[in-house]
Amino acid sequence: MTPGGDARGPLTDPAGVAALLRYERARGFAGVAPDATPGFSGNKADGVRSQDEDADLIRSAQERLHAHALRPDGHRRALILVLQGRDASGKGGIIRHLSGAVGPHGLQTWAFGVPTQEEAAHHFLWRIQRRVPAWGRIAAFDRSHYEDILAVRMHGLAPRVVWEGRYDTIVDFENGLTAGGVDVVKVMLTVSQEEQAGRLRERITRPEKAWKHAASDLADRRRWHEYTQAFEDVLVRTDADAAPWYVVPSDRKWYARWAVGRILLHHLEAMRLEWPAADFDPATALAGLDATTALIAEG
Ligand code: ADP
Repeated sequence: MTPGGDARGPLTDPAGVAALLRYERARGFAGVAPDATPGFSGNKADGVRSQDEDADLIRSAQERLHAHALRPDGHRRALILVLQGRDASGKGGIIRHLSGAVGPHGLQTWAFGVPTQEEAAHHFLWRIQRRVPAWGRIAAFDRSHYEDILAVRMHGLAPRVVWEGRYDTIVDFENGLTAGGVDVVKVMLTVSQEEQAGRLRERITRPEKAWKHAASDLADRRRWHEYTQAFEDVLVRTDADAAPWYVVPSDRKWYARWAVGRILLHHLEAMRLEWPAADFDPATALAGLDATTALIAEG
């Protein structure tokens, strides 16, 4: 199948893909099949090709965002892409893919691991607030403030009353960001038990992946169903039109990369940012350019 062929049905435009993957309370997290490819009927080669085409569109959309940020009369907008999911669900790979598309000046990536001593000495949103992107930028979060519910709950790092209160704190925080011009787009990756086992096995057996292996990943895997419940709770309590959650099937890495790119594109397109109008007279500027050429020729 070629780009422009059947894979480009009406459902595969960015808004259509976003609608298909938007979290639905009735279906839940567990109701999304990790090996499905909603909105895409092609094969892996088609997916990779489509990713490359989207990379150009995402780059252009981010440049418009940046162009506006530079103009006194431009729109002040920025976007945070939150990626959550089980170990080895592919968060890092998706971010690497997007970084390749946009470049480090337009897309900054931040990974949130176990809080440092300094971070732990602050309110849990302190380290997140420091990474809110400047106008015109996109920030991709590899894990996020949601770990302050998920990791804290699963590892018993604070009493229930503490992490329970954070659902609402996070909703308020994200509402504030969105109202102020920073879009918050949240993706929960879903990977099957079999696929995760395969990826963890690779980490254990392949020298170039061994550095990623953590014994705690196996301990977490044993608690598969408890994690499923924790994800469900996060989704149901923090999904909002202002800061929506998407559940992205991630057994096929190429699909997850394509789908997250499309979701991002949907949100960038929804900002409706055209190229800002030139604030100079093109005829005068062209005459100036020609004059410089003539002067260089004269030596
Ligand atoms: P990854 O597993 O994403 O490749 P790391 O090996 O650095 O990256 O692991 C990050 C770990 O940090 C995860 O186990 C995660 O649960 C934990 N973590 C992240 N944020 C917090 C937090 N706020 N409190 C406790 N643990 C956290």
